[in-house]
Amino acid sequence: MHELSIAISIIELAQEEAERRGDVRVSAIHLKLGMLSGVAKEALLSSYDLACEGTALEGSELIIEELPIVVYCPKCELPKPASSIEWFSCPECGTPTPEILQGKELELAAMEILE
Ligand SMILES: [Zn+2]
Repeated sequence: MHELSIAISIIELAQEEAERRGDVRVSAIHLKLGMLSGVAKEALLSSYDLACEGTALEGSELIIEELPIVVYCPKCELPKPASSIEWFSCPECGTPTPEILQGKELELAAMEILE
């Protein structure tokens, strides 16, 4: 239940933020989720609904923005989308690269507040 513990920590974080803003009601949470974060989107969505029950965030919506993997190609000297999830190489010249610029994100991007 990896996703459930993640959902709980997202909710705790959002609750703290809502309290800091004067006990506002949260209607939605925007989350950035990298393709390499190891988190299954669908599982996280259903865990979120479950974990929200009985909290101040009950009824709020989790909106997930999936971020593709971007690597840095040392040959092209440019950021490029990775050619596959297992093999990080430049899609144009095929140069393998260990440098991952994007794809590991798991972060709270924004909160929508109910007026
Ligand atoms: Zn390249």
